[in-house]
Amino acid sequence: MPTHQLVVGDATLRRRDGRWQIGIDDGRITAVTTVSLSGREEIDAAGGLVTESFVDAHLHLDKVHTLDRAGDDALTAYTAGDMGSALRSIELASAVKAEYDRAWIEPNARRAVEQAVRYGVRHVLAFADVDTSARLEGVIPLLALREEFRGVVELHVVAFPQDGLLCDPGAEDLVREAVDLGADVVGGIPWIEHTDAEAREHVRRMCALAAAHGRRVAMLVDDAGDPSLHTTEMLAEAMLEHGLAGRGVAHHARAVGLYPRPSVERLVRLARRAGLGFVSDPHTGPVHLPVVELTAMGLPVALGQDDIEDAFYPFGRHNMAEVAFLAAHALEAVDTAGTDLVYDAVTTTAATVLGVTGHRLEEGGSADLVVHRQPTVRGVLTHHEPPAYVVASGRVVAASTSSTVLTLT
Ligand SMILES: [Zn+2]
Repeated sequence: MPTHQLVVGDATLRRRDGRWQIGIDDGRITAVTTVSLSGREEIDAAGGLVTESFVDAHLHLDKVHTLDRAGDDALTAYTAGDMGSALRSIELASAVKAEYDRAWIEPNARRAVEQAVRYGVRHVLAFADVDTSARLEGVIPLLALREEFRGVVELHVVAFPQDGLLCDPGAEDLVREAVDLGADVVGGIPWIEHTDAEAREHVRRMCALAAAHGRRVAMLVDDAGDPSLHTTEMLAEAMLEHGLAGRGVAHHARAVGLYPRPSVERLVRLARRAGLGFVSDPHTGPVHLPVVELTAMGLPVALGQDDIEDAFYPFGRHNMAEVAFLAAHALEAVDTAGTDLVYDAVTTTAATVLGVTGHRLEEGGSADLVVHRQPTVRGVLTHHEPPAYVVASGRVVAASTSSTVLTLT
């Protein structure tokens, strides 16, 4: 008689020698052993690396595949030089929202979620623009997809006032409406307000809204090449004031990469106290958060896909191994410690940043796994191909093959 619902056999695991068998029942990992197991269904990992599934800690899911609508100008402004034109790029990118319509947003977003299944992405922090031009056209299809893909890909939907709060009167009411509709997370982008006082007010209002509705907060902070920006600090302070310690995430925070060392250390101490997590996406712009340094200082720092073929980034296919591969170059993290760091940043660390518990390949952990063909993290990053198998909630949800026939003669 089989003893498990599903068994993943002959697996290589990170930081453990030998070959392993993983027993899975009712969506949980119930055995991790070198002893042979039997299951009603069995997958042969054939010595490939098996790890926790991927977690995408930052994706603008309502904007995927919009580059052709938006045109190239915003992309040029966002990625030029030291990102001094980042604000201008947001204005240019906003043009696409004049024609925002859930009817075309839904199939685009669906494509990206299906790619998440293929590449083994189990959780996505999915931003939807909620402002006076996008209205609720972006958030509504994402909430529907969240229900449809529950248990396979978890969408944590962020109601995100992309064009500001005080500089876009009316946006705040729409964010409230999106939260009432069921958005999981309250967003924010304080650095684009016109004064520091207004940026602080933006952070305060969104934190108050999150606290009142038992939500988490996720804000795009200091997303330009300007070291005078300090909204990351404002977010950490507001989280402490509103009882949101451990329930907030700072995204982008590129300006921190230009801070003098004493300012970085001061911010790190405050962020630790507030339980503030960070997400970086160094492939989408030339200036970025000092990911390796902040991780070494004890902060949880994840990586995100950020964009898929939109006005800010022309590539992307929801492949987090590819995101980690690109980050390894941008962060100069190519030795064993570096590749381990970037792999953690798209799996376990990213789960921590999003407040997802139990995302561990251990007995009692969630049965959300990827079975790679390559036996090492370095091999997985080198090839960044779809996993051979993707297991979500204890069942196989995707299987891929990779083969080439050489016809040289
Ligand atoms: Zn972003």
